[in-house]
Amino acid sequence: MFDAPCCSHRGHRPDARMRGNLRFGEDGTIGGNCYNCGHKFRFDGHSISDSFASWLSWIGLSSREIQEIKIQLLSKQLEGDIARTPNLLVSTKWEPVSLPLDSVHMDVLEEENCNLPCYQQVRNYLTNRGQHMAKGYDYFWTPSTKHNLNKRVIIPFYHKETIVGYTARYAGSPPSGIPRYWNSGVPPGFLFNQNILQLDRKFVLIVEGPFDAIAVQGVATLGSKISDLQIQTIQASGQEPIVLPDRQATNQQLIDVALSFGWSVSFPDWEPHIKDAADACKSYGQIYTITSALAAKTNNSVAIGVKRQMLG
Ligand SMILES: [Zn+2]
Repeated sequence: MFDAPCCSHRGHRPDARMRGNLRFGEDGTIGGNCYNCGHKFRFDGHSISDSFASWLSWIGLSSREIQEIKIQLLSKQLEGDIARTPNLLVSTKWEPVSLPLDSVHMDVLEEENCNLPCYQQVRNYLTNRGQHMAKGYDYFWTPSTKHNLNKRVIIPFYHKETIVGYTARYAGSPPSGIPRYWNSGVPPGFLFNQNILQLDRKFVLIVEGPFDAIAVQGVATLGSKISDLQIQTIQASGQEPIVLPDRQATNQQLIDVALSFGWSVSFPDWEPHIKDAADACKSYGQIYTITSALAAKTNNSVAIGVKRQMLG
């Protein structure tokens, strides 16, 4: 018990008889009351009621300090809320999308010994990217010439078993004016390979392109930018995010995001001729590639700042 700070502010005589009382709960709650003027408050550990705010001001906190505590509590609560909704992927509605006309799974074309020159070109392109890349995903191909699709490998976007979009990578270097990737349109917030976010895993490697994601069993943003919804999806997964930046790119928005969210960034010590995770996977194999990426992670902002200067 102590002299309550409230009474004189409430039109009562100041307390000089130790009529103030506080109780601290083990769960972070605080209860307070005054047996002189009758003021009371309860702090539930999350938000500051008016009666508690008054008490804080009467014991000497400035309105600005109280405001700061409110903001801190609020942001803590937001973090908590994100952690409590692990199923953002489930709550988002993923609409099925059809693959281009006449698309066929490449395993089927292999079984049929398809010898169409365009298909052979696409198949060789994948084989040249390494055994893991060639076999590591459910690729499709179509003879359709629209958007040069017959010269592209079709990479479906899966949510669970449902195809919710696709990208089609030109096999080799496209002629000038022809885009390397032709997209169906990416559903908002979609992360390539996002099914792995529902696995019981400790880490998730975040890359830009689909082949790099296939190489390290990570997720890809499908572009140099990452959207707020993609960030939320990653945060909500419960897996520790590790950005694996493009080794050549000048635009490194993923690193900026990692720095602002406290995510780790990995700068693996791969040989200079290794341009990206897909290359590493071809040269070193998948296990070494993933292991070296995990071993090279850091969330030290100074180290990240120094190492990012050495990219490109
Ligand atoms: Zn009082």
